[in-house]
Amino acid sequence: MFSKVLKTYTGRANGFYRNLSQKLPEFTKNVFDVSRGNYNYINDGHIDYFRRVLGTNRVITNPEDAEKYNVDWFSQDSILFICLGVLVCQAGCILETIDNKAATKDLIVPLDLGAKGSCQIGGNVSTNAGGLRLLRFGNLHGNILGLEVVKADGEILDCLGTLKKDNTGYHLKHLFIGSEGTLGFVTKVSIQCPSRPKYINVAFLGLQNFNKALKTLKLLRYRLGEILSAIEMIDYCSMDFIKNVVGQQSPIGDYPFYLLIETSGSNALHNEEKLNSFLEESLQKALVLNGTVANEPNKVQDIWSIRENIPNGFQKVASKMLYYDVSVPLAHYYTIVDDVADYAKDISERVFGFGHIGDGNLHLHIQLKNDLTKEVKSNFDSFILEKIVRYKGSISAEHGVGFTKAKLMDKIKPPSTLKVMKDLKKLMDPNGILNPYKIFI
Ligand SMILES: Cc1cc2nc3c(=O)[nH]c(=O)nc-3n(C[C@H](O)[C@H](O)[C@H](O)COP(=O)(O)OP(=O)(O)OC[C@H]3O[C@@H](n4cnc5c(N)ncnc54)[C@H](O)[C@@H]3O)c2cc1C
Repeated sequence: MFSKVLKTYTGRANGFYRNLSQKLPEFTKNVFDVSRGNYNYINDGHIDYFRRVLGTNRVITNPEDAEKYNVDWFSQDSILFICLGVLVCQAGCILETIDNKAATKDLIVPLDLGAKGSCQIGGNVSTNAGGLRLLRFGNLHGNILGLEVVKADGEILDCLGTLKKDNTGYHLKHLFIGSEGTLGFVTKVSIQCPSRPKYINVAFLGLQNFNKALKTLKLLRYRLGEILSAIEMIDYCSMDFIKNVVGQQSPIGDYPFYLLIETSGSNALHNEEKLNSFLEESLQKALVLNGTVANEPNKVQDIWSIRENIPNGFQKVASKMLYYDVSVPLAHYYTIVDDVADYAKDISERVFGFGHIGDGNLHLHIQLKNDLTKEVKSNFDSFILEKIVRYKGSISAEHGVGFTKAKLMDKIKPPSTLKVMKDLKKLMDPNGILNPYKIFI
């Protein structure tokens, strides 16, 4: 059982992970407030054991070779079967690989994100990844039909159902979706795959201010509701940043705010008529100042690449960047960016706001004048936490808690909720060996 887990994990060793780091990373304990628990240190006995179980060539010991597995972003396991719209695969499958497989059956994996070429479905499930089309497909709690999970004691938990309806007792799979590997190790996933939309239109719109963006959003939902698949917001700073750093221009010139809208469906004419009539109305009402639309795949991709290039561009100045991934009610969605820009004016170059506005999910990035220090991070954490609590948002929309936000948990969760979470952790993982330091301090 144990070897099965390791095989899945070491599937990554076959080289599909994108390594953007140019230098050896610092230890987590040097970067964050994490002190080492009472855990064993790896020794030659462990390495011999792994070699016996996995085979010599599947165990990496050279530090340089191992480096890329020790940094986060900044296979091959097999797809077992795909039928009737349910896809069952091993947790180590790369998201893009399984989506390509689904496409051969005219189906789509209901999750799409910038990291799709490198992230694995087990990681997606464990972080409850949302992505670009959550607006259309909903989150993984709705789309994952079943999971196979290895518990901390090595027992395999078989919840790998493929039924859409099964109301027999506790829905244990939900415990593992979004639990960041702290309750069990996901080894297999079954996921429902809807029909792949045949026709996709994308519009890229320029707006005068955020208030107009909110009004446009309302009109979008009203006029395009059933064919909308994504709504992304990009502010001027983010667009200007990728112009300067990545060399990609806005196709419609400079505006204070942009909305990227995607519609998809099975009837090209119907979709286009609806989108065009929405655009006419939004221009007439002076909600939108300018826009461009695309339906040819390469042009659609060009427009999407604007959005995808923002986080890629930030990688180039990573040592000076602070990242927050928050949920904020729409009324305060951009207020918090202005708050942070004001708070940070003496020590920052720029503050960026962009993200999945259709879900109230904001990516808030701060480019500092100097390299990030623990003290600066801690001050920003406190400031943003205070704003998030005031605006009734969440400190983590998509990326989970990890260890960077673990210390904030008692400030955002009621004590009774936190207690049940800790009790569950104790029950599932009494020795604290599954992803230590994550979620709880
Ligand atoms: C360019 C880019 C764009 C992104 N865009 C989005 C987005 O739009 N929406 C969104 O929600 N997220 C987004 N993300 C974050 C993304 O969701 C996560 O990086 C991804 O889902 C994690 O998958 P991974 O395979 O990379 O997992 P890893 O980073 O390897 O792991 C993530 C966590 O899950 C645990 N884990 C991994 N595999 C398992 C397993 N099999 N069982 C149990 N625990 C496991 C790990 O220990 C770790 O705690 C983006 C990331 C990048 C780099």
